[in-house]
Amino acid sequence: MTKLTVPIRVDDLDGALAQAAQAAERGADLVEYRIDRFYRSPGQVHELVQRSPLPCILTCRDRPEGGSFDGLPGDRASLLKQLADQSGREPAYVDVELASYEQFDDLREAADALVDHSGQTRPTSTGLILSAHDFEHRPANLYQTVAAMASKPACRVIKLAWRARSLRDNLEAFEILEQKTKPAIVLCMGEFGLPSRVLAKKFGALLTFASMDDSSATAPGQPTLDELKKLYRWDAIGPNTRVFGVIGWPTAHSLSPAMHNTGFEAVGYDGVYLPMPIPPEYEHFKATVGAWLDAKYVHFSGASVTSPHKEHLLRFVRERGGEIEPLAQLIGAGNSLVVREDGSLYAANTDYAAALDSACAVMKITREQLKDRRVAVIGAGGAARAIVAGLAQHGATTVIYNRTFEKAQQLAGHFADLPGKVVAARMEKLCDSCCHLFINGTPVGMHPNVDQSPIPTEQIRKWKPDIAVFDTIYNPAETMLLREAKRVGCATIGGADMLVRQAAAQFELWTKQIAPIDLFFNVVGERLTESA
Ligand code: NAP
Repeated sequence: MTKLTVPIRVDDLDGALAQAAQAAERGADLVEYRIDRFYRSPGQVHELVQRSPLPCILTCRDRPEGGSFDGLPGDRASLLKQLADQSGREPAYVDVELASYEQFDDLREAADALVDHSGQTRPTSTGLILSAHDFEHRPANLYQTVAAMASKPACRVIKLAWRARSLRDNLEAFEILEQKTKPAIVLCMGEFGLPSRVLAKKFGALLTFASMDDSSATAPGQPTLDELKKLYRWDAIGPNTRVFGVIGWPTAHSLSPAMHNTGFEAVGYDGVYLPMPIPPEYEHFKATVGAWLDAKYVHFSGASVTSPHKEHLLRFVRERGGEIEPLAQLIGAGNSLVVREDGSLYAANTDYAAALDSACAVMKITREQLKDRRVAVIGAGGAARAIVAGLAQHGATTVIYNRTFEKAQQLAGHFADLPGKVVAARMEKLCDSCCHLFINGTPVGMHPNVDQSPIPTEQIRKWKPDIAVFDTIYNPAETMLLREAKRVGCATIGGADMLVRQAAAQFELWTKQIAPIDLFFNVVGERLTESA
């Protein structure tokens, strides 16, 4: 079973033991004591191992591989020798870099004398981890390094960690784990490396690292214990777990992982959902999504697709011979990728229905009643496109106001054949607008610019209470536009409603189960309150 391992930088004995006790309490299986600066007193290191509340790895990491060991080459050998002479509990593992192991004879001899292997004469259970780290790149000699480690008779565990250049590097990590001949730890660092850390358990790695909190991470991109256990469903992950994600650039602040993972947990679905950052260009999208789909053993089963890749999704699915939902085709953008059981692809747009339902909810009408309504949509970007399509499809009269008038005209022209009338108007005319519903489809008013409104407050103060307002922004939950509209008695709805509805529809496409929508609302509400 893959062990959840908390790295602890050791400055003093009691502090390290207190942290290890906390790690045990919070569900860790193993601790790694980083004794880079605590190697001078072998007696204290021995005591640390004796009193450790969890089995431990001892690591005294050299500087070229990201550590802060500041002693002489012989100091590490001397520590290992003295540990071998002590009796009592032993560390579960000691970690030595392959480069040091090959370079320093005394260190290699001391490590071999300490650990369990076929040539060992004294009884010991400690295993040797041989490791290699690259904080800058993917090492050119990755597979040779694996072979070199595996060939050392004393090596029980292979450990590789490198900074991922893209999400594709995770696939190499999974491949090495799939083909391993000895237990292995293969982790990618940095913003692209999270899948290798969360999915380590799916691929049977010996361990993954999780820090106690953000400030104690020992490598870039290392998640916290709580993130792994609570957000990424660590305890539920197994070899057949299906993998989903939010594809965008950036993805760091997306609320989708929290919603979907909570949903999977609630309905008992064997899935995990991850952030999947992909740089903006189509070539990146195509290469990354294509590679993840082709690596069948990953069980990559679907994704939410957000800016700037919504149009790329349709192009990609078309190029791969998949099916595109007619409405997504009409809108020209999709937000949901579904990988069907037979491996074929389906692209859908759940923003459309979500926005439509939010609009109807705030006006307290059915979709059929939209044909009697006049709606002002501010903005002509991706969100506005899905909203206008929905409104026009259901016969509403839609007026698009946009900072760049030409874009509003283009959008209106695009939907000219739908049942509802769609016209473009200049932003300056917004104040004269006589619509039943105003929808903000721009980022004006979004965090951190929370004191901005796409409609001047003087104008809002003249509104009658029969006007309804829908702001697609969900952070903050109540924008200035909504606050001012509420003040004059208008019905309002925030972007969280659309966000939850589009996510719920995706969830149902992937799992074929009813989405626990109330839970989704709770998750979004909690997260937005935390970030306020
Ligand atoms: P987008 O494609 O970049 O479009 C942005 C639109 O806003 C463009 O029409 C742009 O006008 C206009 N705009 C940007 N800054 C402006 C400013 N300072 N003043 C006036 N107009 C401005 O973005 P998007 O993907 O449509 O997203 C827009 C908003 O929708 C975001 O706030 C996002 O949070 C929200 N959204 C919500 C959900 C949800 O589920 N609740 C889903 C998707 C999007 P120009 O054409 O002149 O550049």
